[in-house]
Amino acid sequence: MIKGITSYLKTRMNKKALVKTPQLRLLARSEHPISRSELHEGALKVLYRLQKSGFQAYLVGGCIRDRILGKNPKDFDVATDATPEEVTELFRNARMIGRRFRIVHVRFGREIIEVTTFRGKTQEVADKRLRQSEEGMLLRDNVWGCIEEDALRRDFTINALYYNINDQAIYDYTGGLDDLKNQTLRLIGDPVTRYREDPVRMLRAVRFAAKLNFKLETNTEAPLSEQANLLLQVAPARMFDEVLKLFLAGHALATFQLLRQYGLFAFLFPASHEAFKTNPTALKMVEQAMINTDLRIHEGRPVTPAFLYAALLWPGLEQIFNDLQNNGVPAFPAMQQAGNRLLQRQNQHITIPKRFSFPMREIWDLQLKLPQRNGKKAWVMLQTPRFRAAYDFLLLREIAGEATEGAAAWWTAFQEASEEEQHKLIASLGRSPVKKSGSKRRNPRRRKPVSAS
Ligand code: ATP
Ligand code: MG
Repeated sequence: MIKGITSYLKTRMNKKALVKTPQLRLLARSEHPISRSELHEGALKVLYRLQKSGFQAYLVGGCIRDRILGKNPKDFDVATDATPEEVTELFRNARMIGRRFRIVHVRFGREIIEVTTFRGKTQEVADKRLRQSEEGMLLRDNVWGCIEEDALRRDFTINALYYNINDQAIYDYTGGLDDLKNQTLRLIGDPVTRYREDPVRMLRAVRFAAKLNFKLETNTEAPLSEQANLLLQVAPARMFDEVLKLFLAGHALATFQLLRQYGLFAFLFPASHEAFKTNPTALKMVEQAMINTDLRIHEGRPVTPAFLYAALLWPGLEQIFNDLQNNGVPAFPAMQQAGNRLLQRQNQHITIPKRFSFPMREIWDLQLKLPQRNGKKAWVMLQTPRFRAAYDFLLLREIAGEATEGAAAWWTAFQEASEEEQHKLIASLGRSPVKKSGSKRRNPRRRKPVSAS
């Protein structure tokens, strides 16, 4: 679709730029598929208002990339030479956010347009607007620049395409159009330095490779495994959002596989990474969770972060739980203690906000309660607010091959049955509750398994 591009090069020297101004390739309206009429109304308003006020304003990033690829953009990002303060003055519905990377959110109903001031680079080491850690990580990146500099500060070439509402042309300073055509993900600049500046770019590399089914350019791919440990430097609170983006884009399975391939997963979920080495069922369970997540997203059904994190952390939790039980701790306190220990470790990597960790732990606790179905318990359980999530979770474990002794299948039947049949299903359990067993039962005589009743 990028065939027949008439391109021409303009090389300008810009005194402010540290590097020579990059070559500009311009794609005229007739040569690309983006039409003004199909752009987001809010984004158009932002662009027009900024331009009428004398500022430059472009659509940039994922919305341009995705539209050229014929996909629906997830959101619309605007790049401008107006400072965040100038942007907030122009829009009533605007809010400045971020300290490390200051941007403005302009809200239109439920949609948010992200407005980012062109980033530049300062030569002044002492400049407070740009701060770097000893390892080269950008702790603050609020030095303003021009569009050419801004293009070089972006992550991948395919994310550095700018659309100008006036001439309706696409501006490409980094070779992004060629890379789109060749389905290549290429980091702008020196990959080692760029990953060091912001290790989250390693996660973004994997996310876009999975989402777009693009190959990683050799130099972009090479440092990943070696530099994976840089992820430890990223603030755990920021990691929570980034990890959600990884798994909620409809390509969770492919993303999960790439994260493992490049050794990144170990720095996100270390306990699960360790569990996979000895427990293939645990790996299958997480893969199944990824498959289900993708399916739900493609069907437009909701996916809750609590459920997703419950699954990603389950292998590590199960291991601690089993160890505790082997040491004689009863099932319910063992689950509590395992949860505490795991989250204490996990929070050093990814902070899971309480509003998600509470329901996540409820899902785990209910794994012990779901097998208890005798008497009136099954009906009471059906009314438990978290029942559905816990049942889905049990189903996942069962599909993966965990020894749940058919409890999930029983619950499936129970939910679909008439009242009479439900009585029969309960009666079929016999007098003693069905004993469940965990996936890896190393010492069956001593340990009560995860789903023990
Ligand atoms: P999508 O919104 O579909 O996930 P996107 O490319 O638009 O993809 P955003 O997170 O919305 O991603 O970011 C918008 C743009 O900002 C990107 O396209 C990229 O140009 C730039 N960007 C985002 N994060 C980084 C980063 N960590 N380093 C450099 N540039 C970045
Ligand atoms: Mg975006």
